[in-house]
Formats: sequence, structure tokens, C-alpha cells
Amino acid sequence: MTGRTGIVLFTRDLRVHDHPALATSCAAFDRVVPLYVLDPALAQLSPNRTRFLHQSLAALRAALRGLGGDLVLRHGDPVAETIRLAGEVGAEGIALSADVSRYAERRATRLRAECERHRLHLRFFPGLTVVDPGALRPTGGDHYRVFSPYHRAWSAHRWRDELGPPARVTLPAQVPVGRLPAVPAGDSPEAVPGGEDEAWRRLTTWLPAVPHYGDRHDDLAGDGTSRLSPYLRFGCLSPLTVANRADRDSPFVRQLCWRDFYHQVTAAFPDISRRAYRRGATEHWRYADDTLAAWQQGRTGLPIVDAGMRQLRAQGWLHNRARLITAGYLTKTMGLDWRDGVAVYFRWLLDGDVANNSGNWQWVAGTGNDTRPYRGFNPIRQAERYDPDGAYVRRWVPELATVPGAAVHQPWRLPTALRRTLDYPSPLEVPGPEPVWLR
Ligand SMILES: Cc1cc2nc3c(=O)[nH]c(=O)nc-3n(C[C@H](O)[C@H](O)[C@H](O)COP(=O)(O)OP(=O)(O)OC[C@H]3O[C@@H](n4cnc5c(N)ncnc54)[C@H](O)[C@@H]3O)c2cc1C
Repeated sequence: MTGRTGIVLFTRDLRVHDHPALATSCAAFDRVVPLYVLDPALAQLSPNRTRFLHQSLAALRAALRGLGGDLVLRHGDPVAETIRLAGEVGAEGIALSADVSRYAERRATRLRAECERHRLHLRFFPGLTVVDPGALRPTGGDHYRVFSPYHRAWSAHRWRDELGPPARVTLPAQVPVGRLPAVPAGDSPEAVPGGEDEAWRRLTTWLPAVPHYGDRHDDLAGDGTSRLSPYLRFGCLSPLTVANRADRDSPFVRQLCWRDFYHQVTAAFPDISRRAYRRGATEHWRYADDTLAAWQQGRTGLPIVDAGMRQLRAQGWLHNRARLITAGYLTKTMGLDWRDGVAVYFRWLLDGDVANNSGNWQWVAGTGNDTRPYRGFNPIRQAERYDPDGAYVRRWVPELATVPGAAVHQPWRLPTALRRTLDYPSPLEVPGPEPVWLR
């Protein structure tokens, strides 16, 4: 076999558009092996995400076939399988997108060592964020700890050029491509399907609504957000592609900056899922299995919280405002450890990822990047503000469907005769002094 061969190891960048590792490899090598390794260590984390992953892999395979190539699938340890395949196809180089989690960091370290041992050229590429983590640094620090100055620097930064898909992907002859496993069922009946084509459909449908995002994104019942997060999580769309299609100063693009922000925080603090990020944060959490179970199942007796948790279970996704409310209730009202919340979200969320999940949980719990970590939390005020008519609650808590208007947020205040007809629990007891909203 003459000519040079490279491997592109796909991870959570399951697309052919704007994929710097794939585009550069296709330009540099005569033959390219697009590879995905199904790691059994990740398979059990979330049935919802496993389903989405398999759908996205099927779409990626179809897209690569359309370009003359294929997706090669292997099972096992990604490092061992990549090195083994490199030996089989006589590859000279391996390319992949740089990532920030502890898992990704360990994979990168092991890959570096193995590539050195086998004299393989290893290169990491951008692509998981708009701006590379580490590209922006404040004076005197290794990363930004506060969002606003990061946002200013991010907006002023020159973004890299967006890339098209490669013109052609040429596989070496006779590489066994491997079969895609059957798509598993997942846990959430209303979960959206994965894949790059689905992602583009969602983006195209969403773009006309971008100008209204600032006014509508916090309206729980209005559902006025992009719902692009699972596609960004798996890289079915590049975040740069999304950011380039809206005004850089828009409130929508600002949210994409939050995503980059938490990635650069996680790159600097890979323990983000385990330890408090904020220096000097005091942690005195309770551990109460009954409370955690009631929260998880959406039967706390606080309708706005139950609505959010039921949306999570039904769709594998929930509205950002509902995330803030359900997480605030668990940590600030009930005093439970944010790590327990992280784990529950991580099991259900299609978009569940280390940087955004743990970064946001720490923000809510006051152990993270919030510049006002001790701010109070009143779920009823939140409910009345962001679900003023109660429509979101009635959608997700059918036991309360007959309660009109905002009264649905405090069923314990309804006349006793009406309350008795509702098959809905009383609010869980709150530790410490009774909060004003329960009185
Ligand atoms: C406790 C908690 C946990 C969260 N866990 C995750 C998670 O695991 N994965 C995840 O992608 N997001 C997480 N978020 C952030 C946010 O809630 C979701 O990204 C958003 O709700 C996704 O819906 P959307 O795509 O319609 O967002 P839009 O409002 O349309 O925003 C566009 C994109 O910007 C990004 N984004 C928006 N808000 C945030 C934010 N606060 N932090 C980081 N990125 C943001 C997302 O990629 C999102 O798709 C969490 C928020 C909270 C409060």
C-alpha cells in the first residue's frame, strides 16, 4: 500500500461539517480512517444518552459513506483500540478534538504515551467550543473565574474560520468497519433523536426565533429556547456553526459563551464534579434518601419543582429556568449535596456533560462561579414570575390540571374541600425555620 494513512478518533464531535480534525486529516493524508470506539465504561451512565449516541453514530456513518468513506467501530478501551487499529492499517497519525473532562484528560495522557511508544504522530484540534479553553486568560490568572469579563474577551476574540465537510473520505482497502449495535430504548419516551441531520433541522427551525430569545427564553410554558443542547453535547453541530448564524452580541450567543466559560473552568479545574470550585466555600450538606427520591421522582409537593423533574424524566431535557429552580430547591431549600443533584441530572439529561452540568450545579449551590454565592432562593416567587399562569405546571403535573391560574403553584393554600380532591402530596418538610413561602 502506498500513500499515507491517518486515523480520526471521533469522541463527542459526531459530525462532518466544521470538524477541524477530520478536515485537516483528509487534506494531509491519502487515506483516513474515521473511528469511534464504544467504551463499555461509559455505556451504563445514561440510557438516554446511549440511545442518542447510537443514533448520532448511525447518522455519522451515513454522512461519511456519502463522502466515500465509512465509520469504523470498535468496542473497548479507546486508547488500546486506536493504537491497535493504527497498527492494522499502518497509520502514521492520529487526530482528535481536544476535550476537558477528567476522563478526556486521562484518555489524552494515555494516548500521548502510547503514540510516543509506537512513533505515531498525535494532534489535538479545536471544535468542541467556539473559543478554545485556554485561549483567553485574564492578567495574572490561568482561566476566567467570573463570567462577565470572560464574555467581553470572548466576544472580542477572533474566532477560527468555519469549515465545510471534506470533499472526500478515502478509507484504506479492507478495513473491517464493524456493526452498529441496535439502538437501545432509552428511558424518556419524549427524548429527541440524535444525529447531524436532525441537528441541522433543529437549527434551521430555530433560527427565525433567535431575535425573540431575549424576551422569551425564561418563559417556562412558552418553550422559547433552541433545544440545541443535546446536539451540541454530542457535537452533531459545531458550536461555532451555531454562533456564526446569530448576532454575536445577541442574548442567544451569550448563552453559548456560558458553555465555553464552563469548559475553560473545567479545563483548569477538572475536579469540578467532585470538589467545590470556589476557594473558601463551606459545605455542610444533608444526606436524606427520602427527600432525594421524592425530588428525583417529582413528588416533593412543590408543583414547580415536580413539574421540572417530570419534564426531565419524560424528555431527557428540561428548561434552563426549571433547572435553576429544581437545583435551587435541592441545595438551597433542602440543603442536600449538589453532587447528588449532579448524579441525577447526569443519568437523565441528553445534554448531560461534565463541564455544564457540574459547573451550573456548583453555581446554583454557591460553591462555584456565582459572584453572589449566598443569594436567597424562593421557588414560589420563581414560579409566579416564570410560569405566571401555571400552564407549565399543569402540563407536567396532571394531578393539578383542574387548578386554575397561578393558584396551582401553592396547592396547600387551596380551600380544604378542593385540596382533598387532588391526588397530590403536601410539601416535604423543610429543614430549619419554615420558609416564608410555605407559611
Ligand atoms: C443545574 C443545571 C445543570 C445544567 N446541566 C447542563 C448540562 O449538563 N448540559 C448542558 O448543555 N447544559 C446544562 N445546563 C445549562 C442550560 O440549562 C442548558 O444548556 C439549556 O437549558 C439547554 O437548552 P437549550 O439548548 O434550549 O438552551 P438555549 O437557551 O437555547 O441556549 C443555547 C445553548 O447555550 C448553551 N447554554 C445555555 N445556557 C447555558 C448555561 N447556563 N451553561 C452552559 N451552557 C449554556 C447550551 O449549549 C444551549 O444549547 C444546566 C443548567 C443548570 C442550572
